[in-house]
Amino acid sequence: VEQMDIIKNSIRSIPGWPIKGVTFRDITTLMQDPDINRKTTDIFFDRYKNMAIDKVVGIDARGFVFGAILAHQLHVGFVPVRKKGKLPYKTISESYSLEYGKDTLEIHEDAIKKGERVIIMDDLIATGGTIGATVKLVEKIGGHIVECAFVVELPDLKGRSRLNGHSIFSIVAFD
Ligand code: IMP
Repeated sequence: VEQMDIIKNSIRSIPGWPIKGVTFRDITTLMQDPDINRKTTDIFFDRYKNMAIDKVVGIDARGFVFGAILAHQLHVGFVPVRKKGKLPYKTISESYSLEYGKDTLEIHEDAIKKGERVIIMDDLIATGGTIGATVKLVEKIGGHIVECAFVVELPDLKGRSRLNGHSIFSIVAFD
């Protein structure tokens, strides 16, 4: 529990960014600290190391940081889900609304084999729009989602409710 406080206290809060009324939770300050960064990534590794995971999917862009570390630790493949227009091969797309705006995410159609056990990773879940679109992409290409993992959850925005039935794990929460 004390460990969670150390992680939580390492995250910088920026009131009024990117728009008025929003407080942005900035995890770059967590990543800058080697001990806290390792504590964070070890929590994910300990949780998933015995779950027969086949792939880690990381969401553009901060999900790449934690997702790539987890994939490396588990010694499984890493799959990027990217903003529209960035992936070079055949893709499938999903549009979604986010806390401030609208966007489209894409995945390579051959990135996951049917039935592969997948962890989806992002830095933060707010309204759940981003993870909702990513869940659809992974399921469309046949992935079995074991859990969606985040460093931070904003429970007030009720992101979990958009993920009907999927397991959600987060390390720290901010009101
Ligand atoms: P959602 O789609 O509303 O759940 O928003 C989550 C997505 O927006 C994630 O990809 C986050 O990286 C990003 N995001 C939204 N709010 C914040 C924040 O306060 N800090 C960091 N990322 C955020």
